[in-house]
Amino acid sequence: MQDALQLLQMQQRILLSGHLRADGDCLGAISVLYHALQALGKEVQVILPNAPDGRYGFLQEHTPWTIFSGSLPNYELLVVCDCNQLSRLGAMGELVAQKDVLRVVLDHHPIAKDHGWTALFHDVSAAASGLLALKMADLLGVKSLPLAAYEAAFVALMTDTGWLKYSNADAAAWQAAARLVSHGVNTERIYDLVYQQAEPERPLGIRVALENLEYLADGRIALCWVPQDRLQEVGGRLEDTDEVLDLLRGVARVEAVALLSERSGLVKLSLRSKHHLDVNLVAAQLGGGGHARAAGVTFEEGVSLTKAVELVRQGLLKGFREQGLDA
Ligand code: 5GP
Ligand code: MN
Repeated sequence: MQDALQLLQMQQRILLSGHLRADGDCLGAISVLYHALQALGKEVQVILPNAPDGRYGFLQEHTPWTIFSGSLPNYELLVVCDCNQLSRLGAMGELVAQKDVLRVVLDHHPIAKDHGWTALFHDVSAAASGLLALKMADLLGVKSLPLAAYEAAFVALMTDTGWLKYSNADAAAWQAAARLVSHGVNTERIYDLVYQQAEPERPLGIRVALENLEYLADGRIALCWVPQDRLQEVGGRLEDTDEVLDLLRGVARVEAVALLSERSGLVKLSLRSKHHLDVNLVAAQLGGGGHARAAGVTFEEGVSLTKAVELVRQGLLKGFREQGLDA
């Protein structure tokens, strides 16, 4: 952690980024760092590997970002938030890999030993990367942040803990929430911006997912998928998949939920579990990763939705067996 802080103190031109389809935690962490580093007089720029979920667009008012389109601005230090594999940055990650420039990770996902980063600001016990960003701001001696940064940290915390309802919402998470509210975060406003601004087509995406639902392992696995052509046919949208995952997790017997969808030609899997199954292990075997209760995979080009569904079916059943849950 010390090394990461020193690098940030020493470098002047800092580029911030995060994973593909940046979520609330990724963007929240980036926003906190953006404001903290600006307060320290740094030149800060944010570049994202591709467009984030539209529901987080409001953060851009105070944290301007650009979308990667083949080249990177000049920088001395890159800080990547909420992931620790360059492959999670898509084509932008490939370009970064070719550059011999300092790179730091700020993240709460499990990390491999031979990770290749210059330094880490890393803690798997943190409920959100956004909380690590706040901690980093504290350790860098930033005395006060604008309200927008506290709001962004709140977005990070609330989206990664499902508004404090998932098992990662520990005491530190609740304390952080209280701290952010005491700094003036309007929780109702943030809830409205993140969860109550969807287009009318959005629920139709959920309909398509529910059309393709199957229960496995005696009802303890719920698996569903969203074919792109069917989504277009009904005019549905499925940007964020958490609504479907939460619905299916609501079924008493269900322990694990999987949702597959197609994004720009690639099949994307979201996995969630309630209490027992470590979905990070299941995702890792399929080429992805994440946390014990929330993980994901982006399948390689050429893997069809049908093929991916079968891989996930087998992967989950294997996970249940290997983790002793098939009794
Ligand atoms: P989501 O299902 O919301 O996209 O992702 C849940 C979690 O799984 C994320 O916090 C992230 O850690 C992880 N994750 C999602 N997609 C991928 C992926 O393609 N590769 C890896 N390694 N992890 C992923
Ligand atoms: Mn996160």
